[in-house]
Amino acid sequence: MAQLQMFIAGEWVDSVSGAEIATINPANKEVIATFPRGNQEDVDLAVKAARAAFEAKAWQEILPAERGRLLLKLCQLIREQKDELANLETQDTGKPLAQAYADVEVAARYCEYYAGVADKILGETIPIRSDVLNYTVREPMGVTAHIVPWNYPIQIATRSFAPAVAAGNTVVMKPAEDTPLTALRLAALVEQAGFPRGVFNVVTGYGMEAGAALAAHPDIDHITFTGSVATGTSIMRAAAQNIKPVTLELGGKSPNIVFADADLDDAAHWVVRSITQNAGQTCSAGSRLLVEASIRELFVAKVADLMATLRVGAGLDNADIGPIISDKQLQRIESYIEVARDEGAEIRVGGRRHHEAGNGFFFEPTLIDSAKPGSRLAQEEIFGPVLVVLPFGTIEEALAIANGTEYGLVTGIWTSNIHKANWLASRVKSGQVFINNYGAGGGVEMTFGGYRKSGFGREKGLEALKHYTQVKNVAVKINL
Ligand code: NAD
Repeated sequence: MAQLQMFIAGEWVDSVSGAEIATINPANKEVIATFPRGNQEDVDLAVKAARAAFEAKAWQEILPAERGRLLLKLCQLIREQKDELANLETQDTGKPLAQAYADVEVAARYCEYYAGVADKILGETIPIRSDVLNYTVREPMGVTAHIVPWNYPIQIATRSFAPAVAAGNTVVMKPAEDTPLTALRLAALVEQAGFPRGVFNVVTGYGMEAGAALAAHPDIDHITFTGSVATGTSIMRAAAQNIKPVTLELGGKSPNIVFADADLDDAAHWVVRSITQNAGQTCSAGSRLLVEASIRELFVAKVADLMATLRVGAGLDNADIGPIISDKQLQRIESYIEVARDEGAEIRVGGRRHHEAGNGFFFEPTLIDSAKPGSRLAQEEIFGPVLVVLPFGTIEEALAIANGTEYGLVTGIWTSNIHKANWLASRVKSGQVFINNYGAGGGVEMTFGGYRKSGFGREKGLEALKHYTQVKNVAVKINL
């Protein structure tokens, strides 16, 4: 069993208190490693290190192209070590190995993509009058704080680290207490890539301790958070005390809207995939199936058949669906099955723990029909492999149901009618819309983020850079 340390100011250290936490493999509940239980004191050290690194000549005067080269080197190291990283991710999260490899490649792509951007962060010249030269420059924020969840640890870590560093910030990251392994491995690769000390710091620990201390720290300049609405709310509150900007990505209850004229086999494949990938523990999971009433039986049967073919098992055995992250999450999913029963919905597939898959936290892929659009089951994020069917009659009804939750992250639209697709695409309240696909391969280039309680701010693509820079306007009087 590994005894891990965290990474502050370019050093591998224990927590100041010496306290530790263990992380387990959710497929078999075995302890994989222990790691430091950081708190306020450790966060202070990490923020000091990041501030010193930010102010240091080495970072202030580094060529933007050189920041790009460092990220490119990191990308190369991630690719070289993909086997180790994917194995760590699968052990820590339980996700199928093929998915972990895909996540590691996405992490490499974030570094590659933002490496290319580092020397292309441009300002503007703004015409005012002939004797004034007015221009803007995009400067880094300073020290950015990154609080990462457990569902896609290495992906989400690099999703914000890479643009932050490309733009010239220095970073303090707090990975989830359930899944610290790949963030710590990433720190080792950052060190190997040759980033100056203190540019990347990782403080491990619990959300209520290390996470809360980081969010409330007066010397950070921006917070990026992905996770629950409840935690997002407390992070905003902490940030408000210090007037710090936040980028929040808080999940969803995303619909796939399937019309009778769609390619139903293709739609069924993606509907199932979008709710079972990562055992449904995905912020952008397609957790509501809105199906045109005329094909309800036919389509629901297709989805049920596909769900029945999925193999639930350990991530290292590369099953289709791995375990749920923790007993707490498993119990939470089970509680929604009770809600379904109480609300009179019909459980068509699954609905139970999957004991045959092993002694880990396995849950059957689940399909629930006859739920009411306004019910808790159809409104709340379950964060498990649980799909809720909601039939609709007209396109207006589909729109009302699609927009009828507090969330707004992703919408899938399945139809061969371009007019219906575009009518809906322009009216749904969600940050991403996919027509006849779901995710488009998950490209790092695409803008991603939420409407309403799914959060605000945009990640991925060029749009993300806006959060890691602040704009300074300079006006020069020309006296001649
Ligand atoms: P969470 O939001 O509490 O945890 C996410 C991260 O925030 C972790 O690193 C955690 O340590 C940290 N954190 C927790 N409390 C904090 C605080 N007060 N201050 C600062 N940081 C804090 O999520 P959870 O409790 O692990 O999961 C609960 C629910 O959140 C899930 O069921 C799911 O609905 C949602 N969730 C969403 C996503 C997503 O990708 N949008 C990811 C994970 C969880």
